[in-house]
Amino acid sequence: MVDELATIVWLRHDLRVGDNPALQHAIHAGGPVVPLFVHAPREQLPWQPGAASNWWLHHSLAALDENLQAKGSRLIVRQGETLAELRQVVHQTKANQVVWNRCHEPAIAERDQKIAAALQADGCHVSTFEGNLLVDPGQPRTKQGKPFQVFTPFWKYISKILTEIQPPLPTPRTLAAPARWPASTKLPELKLLPQIDWAAGFRKAWQPGEVGAKQQLAAFARQHVDQYDSGRNLPGQDLTSRLSPHLHFGEISPRQVWHTIIEGQHAGHRGISESAEIYLKELGWREFAHHLLVHFPQTTDAPLREEFAGFAWRSSAKDLHAWQRGQTGYPLVDAGMRQLWHTGWMHNRVRMIVASFLCKHLLLPWQDGARWFWDTLVDADLANNTLGWQWTAGCGADAAPYFRVFNPISQAAKFDPQGAYIRRWVPEIAALADRWLGSPWEASSAELRAAKIEIGKTYPAPIVDHAAGRTRALQAWKQMRGK
Ligand code: FAD
Repeated sequence: MVDELATIVWLRHDLRVGDNPALQHAIHAGGPVVPLFVHAPREQLPWQPGAASNWWLHHSLAALDENLQAKGSRLIVRQGETLAELRQVVHQTKANQVVWNRCHEPAIAERDQKIAAALQADGCHVSTFEGNLLVDPGQPRTKQGKPFQVFTPFWKYISKILTEIQPPLPTPRTLAAPARWPASTKLPELKLLPQIDWAAGFRKAWQPGEVGAKQQLAAFARQHVDQYDSGRNLPGQDLTSRLSPHLHFGEISPRQVWHTIIEGQHAGHRGISESAEIYLKELGWREFAHHLLVHFPQTTDAPLREEFAGFAWRSSAKDLHAWQRGQTGYPLVDAGMRQLWHTGWMHNRVRMIVASFLCKHLLLPWQDGARWFWDTLVDADLANNTLGWQWTAGCGADAAPYFRVFNPISQAAKFDPQGAYIRRWVPEIAALADRWLGSPWEASSAELRAAKIEIGKTYPAPIVDHAAGRTRALQAWKQMRGK
């Protein structure tokens, strides 16, 4: 126990002890360190975290507390208005400074600026850090001094900065405790877990927390990163890193990921493989998403490309529901939506396909899809989700052109040729031959009978004909462009 002035480390999307710049700053201050989490979801409106995200948060906070306890510290959890809670904890611990790693979601960033000003006015030191991105997202600029809207030049720009990326900060062995710990809310009181237990599939799929994140990263760097280039498009195989929720909650930093991959490659006495480079570039997309969110904060709800504001979207609660529940009659779309529901995650290739299906085949607004993902993804991330949806809908930065409509039948044949993914998530058609798995209604009646499938009864008929849906989407797009 130490008697010096304490530093409060206000933790948010950096629920880790390793490579945590705010925590390191607090340690270097020399006094007691008070790790604090304040639960104030309403301050994140209109994007307060969804149910899947809350499930993760509960377990991540528990894991962080355990980790801190092993270092002689603990996590103080409070709920209520953040500024009021911070002030109380400052008072109770006799802290003279509050430090945190910055978040870039518009509502959070705005609130944090107000909190910093208020604490400083109270006479408290405030220091903030960039702990969750590789590069300060406000920094990259085109030659004209504007924010980037195209990924390739953005990547070129930040690649130069990344040649000088610093190694991750050390993980402290112990943390100095204050003379008296302030009161802490018990985690169950935050009511983050569902009342009806729908999360059994989540528990099987994930280990939230820093330990789980590190294990996941180590296994990926050892076993799969060199297959990433060819494997990342195959949803039936686990060949991507599945680090997205860990990165979102900051249980691992992108810098730790970057260095682990590069060190793993060097340890194998080889240069960095093309596959590993492709993987590192995905972290670049994450940087790009945050860059866009900082410069175009309105894009969480409004299209970046303004001509899309007048797009003639349909409205159909029935079609939206069928999509959400994985009952569209297109097995690859349904498999993705069911994977999402059961595990809180969906493979990237399938995210693009289901999103395209919603915005193009069903002509429903991308915002409806973004909201559903927001509530059901454990990795729901405002920057990445906004970019993903606007990219697919054709209305965002560097977006896929609207006229490119993913064909859910040929995508199934190409990326799930043996049907491993579809059979897993749409078991009611598992007995069909591989060639019909993407379009079961095309199988002969004898084949359907043999596989015990009755289209429209045991598995839905397609809710929209592929060709007709595509034509309708293209017409709506032409109409928007006045052609
Ligand atoms: P890997 O392929 O192993 O990639 C490593 C990391 O790079 C990911 O964990 C992620 O942090 C980052 N990354 C990869 N692809 C992208 C991308 N296209 N954009 C931004 N970052 C990327 N990702 C989220 O983290 N949260 C979301 O809410 C989200 N919503 C999406 C919505 C749509 C419609 C689409 C098309 C994509 C969305 N993505 C989102 C991006 C991507 O699908 C996921 O990051 C990826 O599938 C996560 O799996 P992984 O960790 O195995 O990825």
